[in-house]
Amino acid sequence: MASSTPLHFLLVPLMSQSHLIPFTNMAQLLASRGLNVTLVVTSQNAARVNTIIVNHDAQESGLGRTIHLLEAGSSSKCGSNDPFLASNMMQEPLENWLQTVSLPPDCIVSDFCLPWTSDLSRKFGIPKVVFHTISCFSLLCSQNISIHKAYETVKSHSEPFLVPDIPDKIMFTGAQLPTTGASDQWINLLTQFKSSEKSSDGVLVNSFQEMEPGYVEGYRKQVKNLWCIGPLCGNKGASIDHDGHDCLSWLDTKDEKSVIYVCFGSISNLSCKQLIELGLGLEASESPFIWIIKKTDCSLELENWFMEEKFVERTKGRGLIIRGWAPQVLILSHPAIGGFLTHCGWNSILEGIRVGVPMLTWPMFAEQFLNETFMVEVLKIGVRLGVVRPTGEKEKEDVLVMKEEVAKGVKEVMGGGEDGEWRRKRAREVGEMGKRAVEGGSSYSNATSLIEYVMKQKISRISPI
Ligand code: UDP
Repeated sequence: MASSTPLHFLLVPLMSQSHLIPFTNMAQLLASRGLNVTLVVTSQNAARVNTIIVNHDAQESGLGRTIHLLEAGSSSKCGSNDPFLASNMMQEPLENWLQTVSLPPDCIVSDFCLPWTSDLSRKFGIPKVVFHTISCFSLLCSQNISIHKAYETVKSHSEPFLVPDIPDKIMFTGAQLPTTGASDQWINLLTQFKSSEKSSDGVLVNSFQEMEPGYVEGYRKQVKNLWCIGPLCGNKGASIDHDGHDCLSWLDTKDEKSVIYVCFGSISNLSCKQLIELGLGLEASESPFIWIIKKTDCSLELENWFMEEKFVERTKGRGLIIRGWAPQVLILSHPAIGGFLTHCGWNSILEGIRVGVPMLTWPMFAEQFLNETFMVEVLKIGVRLGVVRPTGEKEKEDVLVMKEEVAKGVKEVMGGGEDGEWRRKRAREVGEMGKRAVEGGSSYSNATSLIEYVMKQKISRISPI
């Protein structure tokens, strides 16, 4: 009986784009393995995720609909766009649903940031695994710095120190760590996240073994079970918010690998002065570019500058600006893209890796400095733009990266002589590794092993020895 009914996975993401996107990709992965999946969303996200899944169903014809959306809560009800508040509001509706659902889940896959899912797991006797949307490199570095109190040996936030007990010689400064300057409330939350991870059945990571073998093994020693199932990075159906045709036909007119794609993820903001300097740097780089400017960054001041300086006319044919949400995966997958100027969010990095392009790194906050170091020093597929610490509150209106630095960085990543050639080759190789990992390789086997683990738990629940 247990083995004839497909397993049912309940996926509970944090309600922010960079968590929802990989969770949706995971839902697609599990559904493609014949499982039933329920993905929890708030009403604000339901339409967007639904469209992705409808696309998925159309692509996977014959599978039938195996991903169900469960609307639990609404971000507007909590009167804020805070993803934590929105996600925490899901707890009660989810508990009510679990009390009445006819096919109860066999496994809860919870975002690392939602410790309350451990209560559901205990109360309903359902195994829980935690999903990390960052790399094993970041996880192991953060963990070892904290265990060995490595940071306490330095005198200031700007003094570099060695990360202990990892495969490579890696230095960070305190200023680059995600927890430096964090409030007591945030540190307290992190402690709760960690203890909820400890009590879980294991950990899923959006990464793959071949990309960071030493870090995967290092982190494996610190958790009960570890399954790397990535790269889970948006299929092209994820690019539904923007009509991608314009930028794609624009890209069709460009030479192969000639365009740099510039995007800073879903939440990072740049000042108007910095955006202007960036634009001037892209112009001076002489490379064709696609530049995404978030709606929240599109100020009147910036638009006036574009008009007065005739920036669009000046870069006509060479530059394309997209205001708002861009179909990132679709753009990156186009053969004309040859480089990616990124803020080093983990999803963006995986998306860049998957298509095998080298990256120019401009980290801003959270674990982005760790991701930068991983790309530049471990994978050797990135070029640093030279930002050494997060932007402080006082400097938010300043220009931190000058146009000359932007132009130099773009030239290096798009050209760069022999080093550049080597980096491009290496980026292609890492991309190929990622493709193989999900198409029957290590990540595919790890997903199988997770499914087998959950099946075993189910059997032992139904027929205890
Ligand atoms: N993204 C997108 N279009 C945009 C901006 C972002 O599709 O205009 C997607 C991007 O492909 C990635 C996610 O949003 O999947 C951003 O996640 P990431 O971890 O890179 O950065 P964060 O948003 O957490 O800073």
